[in-house]
Amino acid sequence: PHANTLNFSAGPGALPAAVLAQVRDAIAALPETGVSVLGMSHRSDWFLAILDEAERHVRHLLGLSDRYAVSFLQGGSSLLFATVPMNYATPAFAAPEYVVSGYWSARASAEAGRVGPHRIAWDGQRAGFRELPVLEQLDVDPRAAYLHYVSNETIEGLQFALPARPASVPLIADMSSDFLSKPIDAWHFGMIYAHAQKNLGAAGVTVAVIDRELLTRIPGGLPHILDFRTQIAHGSNYNTPPVFAIYVLTLITRWLRDDIGGLEQVQRINEGKAARLYAVLDEMSDAVTIHAKRPWRSQMNVAFTFGDARLDRAFLDTAEARGMSGLEGHRSLRGLRASLYNAVTPQAVEILCETLIEFALQRA
Ligand code: PMP
Repeated sequence: PHANTLNFSAGPGALPAAVLAQVRDAIAALPETGVSVLGMSHRSDWFLAILDEAERHVRHLLGLSDRYAVSFLQGGSSLLFATVPMNYATPAFAAPEYVVSGYWSARASAEAGRVGPHRIAWDGQRAGFRELPVLEQLDVDPRAAYLHYVSNETIEGLQFALPARPASVPLIADMSSDFLSKPIDAWHFGMIYAHAQKNLGAAGVTVAVIDRELLTRIPGGLPHILDFRTQIAHGSNYNTPPVFAIYVLTLITRWLRDDIGGLEQVQRINEGKAARLYAVLDEMSDAVTIHAKRPWRSQMNVAFTFGDARLDRAFLDTAEARGMSGLEGHRSLRGLRASLYNAVTPQAVEILCETLIEFALQRA
């Protein structure tokens, strides 16, 4: 198999082969315009139609009502770590609350602390970020500006269950690593954001889904580019948007709708992939440790280790020799990590599993 089909990278990650083929052609010349996608004006009719289609697909896949605005932003999820408190943590409310459940939510919380006061609603650091709280059971000030959490901790491989009901304060989720991997009840959220380089395509664009009620809380006087209302008012075309990344996102959402058949279908495929890999790792539990405790295991990122840096390296070498890539753990946790985003096929996961089983047998 081609290395592109065996890409287990945590992000930028695997893209569907069918989308990669369209992107390759579009870089040479778009079928619709004859001009390379990299040379298309962001004011062209072609791009306005792409923006419109991208928004329609996101709305359709998530079943969003008009209560929500959809906007395409830059600066990655890291810029949102700063702009979320800048836009919503106003003196009219108590300090925003943060769930610190892993590396990325800790980064979000620390950044909020640079903007103003914030409160930590739960902190899993001392227990090594191996488990998660139940959101509904947290003791959150009902006057808090919002509650922020990361729905899937990409590095530790921890994933929250979806909230069962709207929270008492606006719930804001960084869904960078599990957005569009399964259906969600969007109306439980005040805001959802996710960068594209996991399940939505290429780095450069971040999708924000915002309850319009929250927009009314934004203070005057923010720099325009940091005020969430600006891109919404300009149809995500206030300044030059990342045309290429938005084009790829549009192709990915078409693929999700037409080739996969929607979010229920992709969820079923993703559950199958994760179940297979965890079953194999559980079989090998004498030799392998999975970072996450069982109830919080992520379906997107599986962080594990053979317990010894040399063994992990030996496995990486074996996997690389068979065309697999991206299996190295994050520099903060080390070990190994297999990311199973939407574009990673069940066949690719099967090859990974067979390689794990053979590797373990050779060393038994
Ligand atoms: N949030 C999560 C859950 C992530 O996984 C990452 C990066 N992988 C980030 C935020 C940071 O995103 P960015 O690099 O787009 O700023």
